[in-house]
Amino acid sequence: METPPAAFVACLECDLLHRRTPLPPGGEARCKRCGARLYRAAPADANERALALALTACILFIVANAYPIVGLDVQGVRNSATLFGAVESLWDDEARAVAVLVFVTTILVPAAELIGLTWVLLALRQGERGYGAVPLLHFIESVKPWAMVEVFVLGVLVSLVKLAHIAIIEPGVALFSFGGLMLFIAAASAAFDPDAAWSQLEATQ
Ligand SMILES: [Zn+2]
Repeated sequence: METPPAAFVACLECDLLHRRTPLPPGGEARCKRCGARLYRAAPADANERALALALTACILFIVANAYPIVGLDVQGVRNSATLFGAVESLWDDEARAVAVLVFVTTILVPAAELIGLTWVLLALRQGERGYGAVPLLHFIESVKPWAMVEVFVLGVLVSLVKLAHIAIIEPGVALFSFGGLMLFIAAASAAFDPDAAWSQLEATQ
């Protein structure tokens, strides 16, 4: 269950306590004494933006998984792998726990989060209650900490820097797509306004 926001909010700059009041869409509350921002309301079209960002992320996700992340040339021997290919070779090399972890955090959970978010927002945009929307919204909130595309991208960049001494590295399409995916997933979940989605869902009941 969503916890209701506290009735009072303290200014982060000067500690003055304020009573929380509802804001118009896109509005923001400022401290009476020092003018620092206390909190803000999501703009009215927040979930439209979240949908556009989530759809872009879906496309990037497909490209990121369909093409090789990186091409390696070690003394004339060329090698390239997609993310799923990397998971498979980890599994074959008996590093099964790592294979499962990589699969879950970089493929399964981000895919579930993106598909779920897109599905719920698309249905709400049509003024409908998407099939399974309520459990999906709960699910999206609970799996979020397990989506680690950004950790993966940073990990790949660090390994590429280390590998640069022993191999010729050709960054693949998927590497750039993962970089974009990282930004678009973050932007979609920042734009997503769960309160608006929940009240829209209640209205379509
Ligand atoms: Zn203040």
